Amino acid sequence: MALGKDYADQECSIARALEIVGERWTLLVVRDALYGVRRYNDFLVHLRIPRAVLAARLQTLLDAGILEKRRYQESPPRDEYVPTDRALALWPVLRSLGQWGRENVPGTQSMRTFHHARCGTELGAYGECPACGAAVPPKDVEMRPGPGLNPDPEDPVSRALLAPRRLLQPVEADRA
Ligand SMILES: [Zn+2]
Repeated sequence: MALGKDYADQECSIARALEIVGERWTLLVVRDALYGVRRYNDFLVHLRIPRAVLAARLQTLLDAGILEKRRYQESPPRDEYVPTDRALALWPVLRSLGQWGRENVPGTQSMRTFHHARCGTELGAYGECPACGAAVPPKDVEMRPGPGLNPDPEDPVSRALLAPRRLLQPVEADRA
């Protein structure tokens, strides 16, 4: 039997979520949006993703209300893609998925570490602060370079993301 294109017969909420975020690249676009990437060309150079695929994934995320378009330039018109509350709600999912990868996929190195900005403690597997005992919203998370991160990347987005920074802080502000 041919593999179906979707999980239309599945009532499971995981299957429903995968209808939106289960396609290849989609969660990486969300990850970049949480890192502060907002502009089409920045996603393009950072992810090294084919243009047509990026356009399709951004549209999926817009349709699902995970990203929203915001105009930042009038002539020529340019929009950026800003994460909504639905994107922020995926942060603990991405955090625990990354943790699972480090623990279960051989040879996976820590590219970045994530800390509660207020106390500096490294976050737990679900994005919580073990010291403060509370969930930490993305805006209060500090991202720091980890041992697996290339210290001399070529693209300007990776360079902007080298220094410790808050999640959601727009990348282009660093480059201005
Ligand atoms: Zn804390």
